[in-house]
Amino acid sequence: MATTAAQQALPHENDTTPAEKLSVFERTQDVIRTALARMGYNEAYYELLREPLKLLTVRIPVKMDDGSVKLFTGYRAQHNDAIGPTKGGIRFHPEVTEEEVKALSMWMSIKCGITNLPYGGGKGGIQCDPRTMSQGELERLSRGYVRAVSQIVGPTKDIPAPDVFTNSQIMAWMMDEYSRIREFDAPGFITGKPIVLGGSAGRESSTAQGVIIVMREAAKVLGMQIAGARVIIQGFGNAGSFLAKFLHKAGAKVVGISDAIGALYNPEGLDIPYLYDRRDSFGTVTNLFDNRITNQELLVQDCDILVPAAIENQITETNAHDIKARILVEAANGPTTKRATDILTERGVLIVPDVLASAGGVVVSYFEWVQNNQGYYWTEDEVNTRLNQMLIDSFHNVYDTSRASRVDMRLAAYIVGLRRMAEASRLRGWV
Ligand code: GLU
Repeated sequence: MATTAAQQALPHENDTTPAEKLSVFERTQDVIRTALARMGYNEAYYELLREPLKLLTVRIPVKMDDGSVKLFTGYRAQHNDAIGPTKGGIRFHPEVTEEEVKALSMWMSIKCGITNLPYGGGKGGIQCDPRTMSQGELERLSRGYVRAVSQIVGPTKDIPAPDVFTNSQIMAWMMDEYSRIREFDAPGFITGKPIVLGGSAGRESSTAQGVIIVMREAAKVLGMQIAGARVIIQGFGNAGSFLAKFLHKAGAKVVGISDAIGALYNPEGLDIPYLYDRRDSFGTVTNLFDNRITNQELLVQDCDILVPAAIENQITETNAHDIKARILVEAANGPTTKRATDILTERGVLIVPDVLASAGGVVVSYFEWVQNNQGYYWTEDEVNTRLNQMLIDSFHNVYDTSRASRVDMRLAAYIVGLRRMAEASRLRGWV
């Protein structure tokens, strides 16, 4: 795989590549069913919410640099729009499937529900490998996707954003294409744009900011604090490396980090600024050291807070008994299996589930959309103050539900996340 220029131009937002896509979808359906039943909603509600209401599959012809034409398959799923337009990112990845996009649109509904945003969940994806494509090919693909889905998206219908292997440049091309089709400037069609095109201050680091905010609240309820806490972060991509930097600044002792090659652990704390500056565009840095341990060894080292910020299914029934952390903050999507969630909950480990821990991105996307609609822009401080308040409220809403209903934090998150959607669907007469 060559094209390093294209690779470097593509830092990606969520460094996750689901390995067991089918099971992720089924797992999501399972929690939705349980959450609805807990709230007393009958089977008709599950029937409505167990699949997206709309799924569009498109084939996009793209003229490649060598003169050939290649067809790419893309999807856009809209889970439920009873509350308002749907919202969620578009990922570019060779292994994107229909099932995965459907499940991810359902997760977006939960994230928007927990944070009280006026949206339902949506998600898009294109089967492609952006690491092997030129900027010109990527631009033609991005514009072709917007032309193919333009009927079902828009600022008051469905608002896309960045996701795995997509970035602000891709959002800019997509916004421009949509605006040309509609013949007026439509910055509110998509979020995660560059600042000069109506992007919001603070959007780039918002996912990592969100992780820290909920981590701080989780620490508080256990009588701990971030300053002085020993933290292990699995994954040093966009989320993981930003997070390490912020935590280091906040006075935490980051004792472990990892990348795809291996992991580093030092009970005295790692030199995070040094590692941050030396990582490559894929977040690889452990290759510079001889004293590496494996990712699996890292997860069970001594620490107070463990943050999986890499890929799925890392914490399973095999290692859940050996995890030393008191708090598990899921910055990655789906890092903990169902069985491991049960084991950790029984052991008294406080889990901050992925749908809550990674909600900072969509919250600041919402702020971006509000600013676009008003044509009035906020400072980074205003963005961060509002993000802080919304995520603190969201955390406590989920935490209190978990205590009051005696359910684990993941189920509590789904209960909070689905409540408004079920109610809005009923009031509209859909169920
Ligand atoms: N792709 C991000 C997520 O999964 C952001 C979505 C958005 O900003 O709409 O949460």
